Amino acid sequence: MTDLKVAIAGAGGRMGAANLRTVLTTPGMVLVAAFDRPGSPAIGKDAGELAGLEPMGVTLGDDPAEALALADAVLDFTAPAASVALANLAASLGKTHIIGTTGCSAEDDAAIAAAGQAGARIVKAGNFSLGINLLLGLVKKAAAELPGFDIEILEMHHNRKVDAPSGTALMLGQAAADGRKVKLADKAVTVRDGHTGPREAGSIGFATLRGGNVIGDHKVILAGPSERIELGHIADNRALFAEGAARAALWAAGQKPGLYSMADVLGLS
Ligand code: NAD
Repeated sequence: MTDLKVAIAGAGGRMGAANLRTVLTTPGMVLVAAFDRPGSPAIGKDAGELAGLEPMGVTLGDDPAEALALADAVLDFTAPAASVALANLAASLGKTHIIGTTGCSAEDDAAIAAAGQAGARIVKAGNFSLGINLLLGLVKKAAAELPGFDIEILEMHHNRKVDAPSGTALMLGQAAADGRKVKLADKAVTVRDGHTGPREAGSIGFATLRGGNVIGDHKVILAGPSERIELGHIADNRALFAEGAARAALWAAGQKPGLYSMADVLGLS
């Protein structure tokens, strides 16, 4: 089998660097292009050097169409508007699009799903780690088995993160809502401030912490009348997400166009 040709969007970013390192060291894939937004200071740099490795002759550009023309798949951890535009491009070219970007609106998600219908093979996940995807199943089960317990989701990330609650916290909330057979949008409480009154029964609360270099800590607390269960996950290294994204790209190569989740990739769905 020939190697999967991979392009990396947002290659000048934190996840971009992790994706570069992973693609350059994963058997079965080869880096053919890397790009960032026009004006990014990373444009013109060598991808190998950005990854902290030897120069490898792929220079960062700013043209997604040029990059996708060379590639079978693009790994994209950028920003919502960029991911929607890239999904449309991937659909028109029949490419695989792995989306790790978080903070997408319902409209963004609908546009991405439409791109899956229109010819792109898309895997979108708010978290590409195996551990979190296993945790989602545990949270769903616990929420279903403990209907009277209050569910609170606590997350902490580094001080440069721009969206809240994190995509992973929202996925954990969705898993809890699925376990309770309710709509997350009806039950989520993402902000508490001032005189809030007592906690509404059945609500799913979120608390967001930001600081330092924390890569991603998540805890789901199920609080009953006289005991608490805490289910948690700590990400020690961004390579974790990049390895999941690479695995998703290799898996998607054999799939029909459509929108898939990490649970599909891992056979957990
Ligand atoms: P970052 O700010 O370090 O990197 C983002 C990069 O995208 C930057 O280099 C930026 O210039 C680039 N970019 C923005 N618009 C672009 C465009 N139109 N075209 C090309 N490049 C563009 O951020 P980060 O920490 O690497 O995180 C990126 C995203 O990935 C965030 O949404 C974050 O929440 C998410 N994330 C997801 C997972 C996961 O497992 N799904 C894990 C970690 C981070």
